[in-house]
Amino acid sequence: MPIFELAANDRERACALLTRLYDSRNQIHGKGVRIPKTFPKDELAWLESVGLAPNQRTTLHHAKVVQRIVDAKHDVSIADGARAFIASLGEGPPHGVLLEVALLAHRMPAHRLRGNGGTCHVCMMDTTVTVDVAEQFHDWHTSGSGIPGDPTWAVLGLDQLRAHPVRRVSAEAKARMGAILHTLDNLPDEAPMGTAIEAIQTLDVLGDDPKGSRARGVLETLAFAGMLEAPPYRGIAAGWIDFIERDRRPNKYVEVEAPLSYWRGRDGVCWEHARAILGIDRRAAATAEPPRAVRPAKKATPKPANRPPAGPRSPRRPAKAGDVWAIRVREDTYVLVYVWHPGTGARPYARVEYLDWIGPTPPAADEVTSLGVRPRGKERWQMLAHSLHKTTGTALIATDISPPKRTGPEPDRTPGGAAKELSWLADACFPELAEL
Ligand SMILES: [Zn+2]
Repeated sequence: MPIFELAANDRERACALLTRLYDSRNQIHGKGVRIPKTFPKDELAWLESVGLAPNQRTTLHHAKVVQRIVDAKHDVSIADGARAFIASLGEGPPHGVLLEVALLAHRMPAHRLRGNGGTCHVCMMDTTVTVDVAEQFHDWHTSGSGIPGDPTWAVLGLDQLRAHPVRRVSAEAKARMGAILHTLDNLPDEAPMGTAIEAIQTLDVLGDDPKGSRARGVLETLAFAGMLEAPPYRGIAAGWIDFIERDRRPNKYVEVEAPLSYWRGRDGVCWEHARAILGIDRRAAATAEPPRAVRPAKKATPKPANRPPAGPRSPRRPAKAGDVWAIRVREDTYVLVYVWHPGTGARPYARVEYLDWIGPTPPAADEVTSLGVRPRGKERWQMLAHSLHKTTGTALIATDISPPKRTGPEPDRTPGGAAKELSWLADACFPELAEL
């Protein structure tokens, strides 16, 4: 049984909805995401119907995952995985896992968990792994696909590969792969992985990649597959290599596994495997002229769907004493701050304090006249905040309000910062925000 079922043209819809749900403001540590009251019920039901309901934790068992991957060799070829991987280049985060799972299917032996301490020496999976499938699907489409060879990512990759078989790879995508291989084959002898990442970034064929994470993902897949080998450390192109053998590094500061952890420019590309798996030889790679990646990389970070209506319209002017501003802390939750002092200078830091109110939409001006302040624990808490009027999600809702009721002295210390911080600093004054 697949873990989720999604038609190809529903992928963007799912990504957009999950981007909205898995927004950092909805995340509650250790509990998953809070579903905003403004989130449409029918969209939630649809996500559930395709197996991508938020906060649904699925426990994957080693025995079943290994069986599913090994059985996939009957209907997924290595060429299927290679095409899907190459096709993903330049279209968003590269999906090396699509090639990795095809290779796992054909190379990994059926096995029982081996090793003590829970992690299998053969495949690196624990006895059980619990995942939030919707979150993992979302991460996949926005950030790329996981640790190379990780069976838990691979088994989700299998569903993707079956749902979206790529029958043909465009000449552009193939040229991107060729140019990457040619570059890796022509680095200085001592060049380590970091230099290889920079060289791929310079090629500019993977879209926006300021931190090099896409380039690194491609390198990891190529090394896992056996196209960047550092004998005696090899990938799995020619035969299976247990995780415990791959899990080797020259020193503790190196994060990646063998063979990439040992690979240097002089090792170059293993063209025999590149030809067999990717269908690209040295000559084709040398003459590849890839187009620049698609920009902007819209597919990588889909815009949230059905964005709720913007907050109330209000004048955008710098804060004044006696103002009450609403601060959106989530798409369906607002808090309020009172402005004690507007601050001075070219970039004034207004002295603000939360009011004792929280709700789904900002209140009317006459509803805030008799509110008290909201402390942090037992102490009063204030902030010196700049740019209140330039911050997304803020709204001036009342002016010339008398000072709020308060008990206790003003705080001894007052942090300063951008007004946008008021959105997440509210967590400490409003414990109710920790409830799902
Ligand atoms: Zn295993």
